[in-house]
Amino acid sequence: MRGRRRTSGIVHLVGAGPGDPGLITTRGRDLLARADVVIADALASRELVKLAPLGAEQIDAGKRCGRHGVEQGAVNRLMIDRARRGLRVVRLKGGDPSLFGRGGEEAEALRRARVPFTVVPGVTAALGAAAWAGIPLTHRRHASTVVFTTGHLDPDKRGGRPDWKALASADTLVFYMGVKRLPGIVGCLLRAGMSQKTPVALVRWATLPGQETVTGRLADIVSLARAARLRPPALMIAGRVARLRPRLDWFGRLPLRGRTIVVTRPRDQAGPFVEALRELGAGVILAPAIVLRPPRSMVRLDRALARVASYDYLVFTSVNGVARLFARLLETRRDIRDLQGVDILAIGPATAAAVEARGLRVAAVPAEHRAEGIVKMMGRRRLAGARVLVPRAAVARDVLIKELRRRGARVDVVEVYRTAPSREGADEIRRALRRGRVDLITFTSSSTVTSFARLFRGREEARRIRRVPVAAIGPITAATARREGFRVALMPRTYTVPDLTRAVVRWFRSFPSGTLRAS
Ligand code: SAH
Repeated sequence: MRGRRRTSGIVHLVGAGPGDPGLITTRGRDLLARADVVIADALASRELVKLAPLGAEQIDAGKRCGRHGVEQGAVNRLMIDRARRGLRVVRLKGGDPSLFGRGGEEAEALRRARVPFTVVPGVTAALGAAAWAGIPLTHRRHASTVVFTTGHLDPDKRGGRPDWKALASADTLVFYMGVKRLPGIVGCLLRAGMSQKTPVALVRWATLPGQETVTGRLADIVSLARAARLRPPALMIAGRVARLRPRLDWFGRLPLRGRTIVVTRPRDQAGPFVEALRELGAGVILAPAIVLRPPRSMVRLDRALARVASYDYLVFTSVNGVARLFARLLETRRDIRDLQGVDILAIGPATAAAVEARGLRVAAVPAEHRAEGIVKMMGRRRLAGARVLVPRAAVARDVLIKELRRRGARVDVVEVYRTAPSREGADEIRRALRRGRVDLITFTSSSTVTSFARLFRGREEARRIRRVPVAAIGPITAATARREGFRVALMPRTYTVPDLTRAVVRWFRSFPSGTLRAS
């Protein structure tokens, strides 16, 4: 590249961890958030790549299962080139950068090119697999030595010819490996004197919702792996500690383990729900169906804000409405002091919490979290002649407005945001549907139901998606879902996300693993 070369370019070799995006270090995450370029391996979590700033260049250097990705020399050249342009490069590598990951070779190439670099360690797959499979790699009673080695051994290279006797004598032995090499590895270990009875666990896609584990003994693990059709990426843990798994397998005991749940909330609100489901062991596919955008015109909103103190009531119907209204208040050089004397009402506890987080007290939250609840509650107040401001999305139900007007209130409805369709997550759902692996779709608003249904227009896929049971947050959403042809299987008692989460857990408890898919 011509032009001025800055000297501030740098490459960070960052360990992404074994799969679960929560297993990256905070340093790794901070570097990603400031990266100009991210060069990611196939095994590095895609969720993590999304942490890079919007404009960052993303390069997929994936190579997996014999399919060729970007070749090593090309990766080195890319890193060097981008750093020389003065850019901050994050080279994101699965697990730990150096453990069987060529991190050492990449560092050498950078050194040769005099490009500054740092190394951020990561949770290597052995540690992730051991933790998630419930196998402590060392244990006071069972094991005091542990060896990490690889089955991708190249007999022509130095370091490629293992001392099988030495390996076989380790208490715990972890093999990073191509599954195809399993028979060869097991044969060598047995010939080197390892007991046939040694407990063995094979862990595939460790730390991810799709994690699979096959356990056995050295004598029968090859046939067990074949019967289970185990495919890469997987690793083997051999040693007495593997026997502890039945007691220590916490992951397998999580209530939503093995369930795939679709969450259809806008990305910026999905966080807590997605986290709660994942914490309970579910695999979550986020398909927001809609994205939130600013209104096409701010004129009406700004006019309302200019005389905001003249309103008797400010009624919020969503967390978004709260966020956008207060953001606009600041943008127009006003602040919460302009709201003096205005009573604030919120449609539900989450909306109320969003108001309170801004240092404002909510006059009332209805017992029933619906527009009807607000109306009922306001019925006790004097509404004739009262001035009410309702900031909300353009498309929203009108029960509230109609009712308020019927009682004589002067209601100004102003658009503070609008919704636009989003296709994010749709392809992932299609793939999972084809494998019959979507267990539940969750809807937390009517507008998402309609947008979500539109994502699946093909006849077959439209039919398939409607066979998946649906959890609806409340009766209005449920009614919309039914109208769109979905089968509503559950609804929480109160219409909040924590309650929906509890209802989901309770509902799945009534289906032993697997029965749902068969149905
Ligand atoms: N640097 C990486 C390892 C790269 S070698 C690390 O520190 O983890 C790739 C091998 O790692 C795969 O063939 C597989 O044996 C193992 N591996 C990586 N991620 C894995 C996962 N999530 N589950 C099981 N094995 C994994």
